[in-house]
Amino acid sequence: MSDLRELYQEVIIDHSRRPRNRGELPGHNHSAEGFNPLCGDRLTLYLKVENGIVQDARFDGAGCAISTASASLMTEALKGKTEAQVEALFGAFHDLVTGSAPEESPSLGKLNVFAGVREFPTRVKCATLAWHTLQAALRDRAEPVSTE
Ligand code: ZN
Repeated sequence: MSDLRELYQEVIIDHSRRPRNRGELPGHNHSAEGFNPLCGDRLTLYLKVENGIVQDARFDGAGCAISTASASLMTEALKGKTEAQVEALFGAFHDLVTGSAPEESPSLGKLNVFAGVREFPTRVKCATLAWHTLQAALRDRAEPVSTE
């Protein structure tokens, strides 16, 4: 995958134009802010976690198509997962976009659309911003996350 047209696949375009789970989450019990100075992507992630299971996830902020689509698809993928499953998903996603895993992983489902990002190193930070913010939220880190 060396073509930008392949990077911005239909799913990514769809989720960047019509992000799912956007806005503050009423009754959230975890949140964190993330910033990618390289691209200017900013997001706030809200989580509602009960008994170690992510009940709901939403995000707000402004960023490029990749960071927005990543946050949208990530919040969809998180619901109903245990914190351990979320950690495993983060690992699989990170390996996918950095190129240290095969192009596709069954556990990632729709998130596999980001496989093309590995061809564009500066875009890896856009794709992983939401995930680093997710880790900060689960750990209740007060400092905003920066990819730099
Ligand atoms: Zn970006």
